Amino acid sequence: MIPTLLPTYNRAPLTFTSGEGSWLTEAGGTRYLDLGAGIAVNALGHAHPALVQAITDQAQKLWHVSNLYQIPGQQALADKLVDQTFADTVFFTNSGTEACELAVKMARRHWHAKGMDDKTTVIGFEGSFHGRSSAGIAAAGGAKLTEGFGPLLPGFKHVPFGDHEALKAAIDDTVGAIIIEPVQGEGGIRPVPDQCLKGLRDLCDERDILLIFDEVQCGMGRTGRLFAHEWSGISPDIMMVAKGIGGGFPLGAVLATEEAASAMTAGSHGTTYGGNPLAMAVGNAVMDIVAAPEFLAEVTRKSGLLRQKLEGLVAIHPDVFEKVRGSGLMLGLKCKLPNTDLIAAGYAEHVLTVPAADNVIRLLPALTITEEDIDQALTRLDAAATRLKTRSHETANAG
Ligand SMILES: *Cc1c(COP(=O)(O)O)cnc(C)c1O
Repeated sequence: MIPTLLPTYNRAPLTFTSGEGSWLTEAGGTRYLDLGAGIAVNALGHAHPALVQAITDQAQKLWHVSNLYQIPGQQALADKLVDQTFADTVFFTNSGTEACELAVKMARRHWHAKGMDDKTTVIGFEGSFHGRSSAGIAAAGGAKLTEGFGPLLPGFKHVPFGDHEALKAAIDDTVGAIIIEPVQGEGGIRPVPDQCLKGLRDLCDERDILLIFDEVQCGMGRTGRLFAHEWSGISPDIMMVAKGIGGGFPLGAVLATEEAASAMTAGSHGTTYGGNPLAMAVGNAVMDIVAAPEFLAEVTRKSGLLRQKLEGLVAIHPDVFEKVRGSGLMLGLKCKLPNTDLIAAGYAEHVLTVPAADNVIRLLPALTITEEDIDQALTRLDAAATRLKTRSHETANAG
């Protein structure tokens, strides 16, 4: 019999009832070190006082009015994002997948308004993830996402990650946009090298193509810059943001240049909930903290510390881990034993990590993680690796 909850998730048998900073607590009081942060969502950890204050204050005044009226919090947050990025304009959504929908619609409408109705093709990269909507799965293209959901939204092509020649070969006059995560998240924490992002920008300029960055996971301070592409010195035409920007409240955004967004006139797109006063109260509070240069410098400092310690962990468990990769506090441990076994061993040691493709476990801690918690992370991951090794030896001997 089908469960009353649609069984699209294999959930761990863990139920948390409260959280604080990088820690989650079960009803019985057992604490877990949370290195997943709700899949890079709880950027400021759990129950951050500034966010609790912001949402509590707003909840007592006004939750929702619809986008038929002025929402000062939207103006404030859009102004901050425009001030800090390449973008000239911002649209607020409730999620990353809705940001993907708008990014694709915006690109197509851009060429339509220029009279180039054939420029509808969007090129994506293998191993990418852009959300679970019809546009999101079509843009990513992977079989795990698309199987059985056809007919897929037409107009998408895919090229292997990092294959410049394949990308050049895929470009024809119908290509209107290229969509890419500067650091692939679900795909196994695979950063796109800076020179490749620069090359992509040049290619898009030469061939009159809009460049869409999906910074849903790698953005909002995660790599030590407000947005990951800043490390490369180039910028996209359109950018998708979500996850960290809401700190746990459902919030996403599409940022764009004036040129890319110019065809999005009144009535061309909308959302009931997107950017409502509650979401904006939280989003503004997150932005005020994360965009501060001192905060980002701390992310970089702590990520260096964590990475160095993880390199040490890989060195002492060469039979469990292959290597560390990633950027800032978006790190992946490529495993030699099954990543899901390692994550389960982590549960036994009360540390939470997140799986990704390519047999990787993801470490996406709160950006506010403390040095003590980083030490705890290493102690627990070390214990999990030892536990797993011992078990796999026992199994091998028994067999
Ligand atoms: C999570 C994610 C999405 C989808 O975001 P939702 O809020 O789950 O819809 C899109 N792109 C990337 C890179 C993501 O990590």
